[in-house]
Amino acid sequence: MKARIDFERCTGHGRCYALCPEVFAEDDNGYPVLDDSPIPDDLAARVRRAADNCPESAITLLSLEESSAEKSSTEKSGAEESGAEENSSEESDG
Ligand code: SF4
Repeated sequence: MKARIDFERCTGHGRCYALCPEVFAEDDNGYPVLDDSPIPDDLAARVRRAADNCPESAITLLSLEESSAEKSSTEKSGAEESGAEENSSEESDG
């Protein structure tokens, strides 16, 4: 399992890092910090509890399969975007 935080929603209440500081760290402004590591099975229940208690519903939990599918779709869209930039620069050259 992996977790994602939607920073458009997160308002820095800090419940996530209060409930599971092993997974969610805190930055200098009180916002959570989360790395991309898989969550160890023994912390999964606490991460679920943190997600369930997030007042902004900003935490999404993904299976490792969902996470890798999300990553490959992000990489693909990034490649498409860079391709679009190449095309637009070609147009401006002409
Ligand atoms: S509990 Fe939710 S809103 Fe609060 S800091 Fe964590 S992710 Fe953000």
